[in-house]
Amino acid sequence: AHLDRIESVDGALHAFLKVDGEGALEQAAAADAARNAGEATSPLAGVPVAVKDNIATLGLETTAASRILEGWKPPYDAHVVERLKAAGMPILGKTNLDEFAMGSSSEHSAYGTTYNPWDLERVPGGSGGGSAAAVAAFEAPLALGTDTGGSIRQPAAFTGTVGMKPTYGAVSRYGALAMGSSLDQIGPAARTVLDAAMLQDVIGGHDERDQTSINRDWPSFADAARAGAEAGSMQGLRIGVAKQYLDGEGIDPEVLANFTASLERCRELGAEIVNLDLKTTEYAVAAYYLLMPAEVSSNLARYDSVRFGLRVVPEGKATTERVMSATRAAGFGDEVKRRILLGTYALSSGYYDAYYGSAQKVRTLLQREFDDAFTKVDVLAAPTTTEPAFKVGENINDPMAMYLADLTTIPANLAGLPAISLPSGLVKGLPVGVQFMGPSGEDARLYKAAAALE
Ligand code: GLN
Repeated sequence: AHLDRIESVDGALHAFLKVDGEGALEQAAAADAARNAGEATSPLAGVPVAVKDNIATLGLETTAASRILEGWKPPYDAHVVERLKAAGMPILGKTNLDEFAMGSSSEHSAYGTTYNPWDLERVPGGSGGGSAAAVAAFEAPLALGTDTGGSIRQPAAFTGTVGMKPTYGAVSRYGALAMGSSLDQIGPAARTVLDAAMLQDVIGGHDERDQTSINRDWPSFADAARAGAEAGSMQGLRIGVAKQYLDGEGIDPEVLANFTASLERCRELGAEIVNLDLKTTEYAVAAYYLLMPAEVSSNLARYDSVRFGLRVVPEGKATTERVMSATRAAGFGDEVKRRILLGTYALSSGYYDAYYGSAQKVRTLLQREFDDAFTKVDVLAAPTTTEPAFKVGENINDPMAMYLADLTTIPANLAGLPAISLPSGLVKGLPVGVQFMGPSGEDARLYKAAAALE
């Protein structure tokens, strides 16, 4: 059914870069056979899933929406893909994204943009616009995304779906094509909080191949979501709101009104709303757009014309440097180049302390501010985005506007915190989302709170 749906709507949406119908049907048949043989199977066995194309899938082309990886078939599965396969979840295909997950609209894909199923003139958000659009349009019941500064949550808000960025280290990044390694996190995209929770139950947990993977036992997130759906589950929950968001600077007034309505509903459900002053929030975007490009410039050095994908040999003398340079010039798009340049600059000697060093200090301050906030409240709430989905082309030539769109999602990445976005209604006829953030490791608390409000 999902393959048929993809067949009928993906021509207009372009959520998928690659559909693996044959593979998915084989995996589905195997899941069926296991169930029929009475083998213990995962609750999600046979439920198909779409995978963002910056996550490695064995033998299935993985490009991160970049020309530089065109045709690359990974010789291994990402940890999360191993987990999906072990759970008997058929992989429908690979979803579109901004090249190497850099962007907020999916327009920076080298293979064409993805459109928002709610309004085909609008973006589905980014970078995980393909995964969110696929889930919103019923092409897939579940999808995987990656979130470095909001790429799971912002597309969820723009498409009326649920997106969760787990605690940094809760899901192994082994096999995720690195963007900003200290910020990247794989997580679920789904249509309900419980669905997202069930998917994190499958993909989460310790993996020794990722040195930042947390080694602990995690509770069942599905149980947490189910508990949240029970009456009275929000009773006594202390929800913090930064006055910086309520002041509304940079936030569409209707989005703000929608957010305060969500808070009101939480209050009706028994939560206590606590106003907080989170001063460092204001510097988060600036710090992120120094730290992230710095990590990007280093992570993307591996695309050197030798190890993966594209190789362009220029006319004249084919020295290593000239081949490398011609390959990177042809293989990377403008946004990726912009970030490599910014990051290289920020890390260069003489500027390192002023830029990278200062941004690291801001990051520490932000983390401390969050630590302090969580002594006073159980979760923090914020609008997921500053506005509903914008039009295709509207921000493409204005990187600043595009970067500022990440105002409310970036802080969680800088602090490594879990954060979930769920639909909070319509603004101007388009979906918007509300976001809960929690202390590190408290992913279950977020599933519970989100299910209560859902
Ligand atoms: N929009 C942000 C950026 O462009 C976030 C990207 C992400 O989370 N991968 O960096």
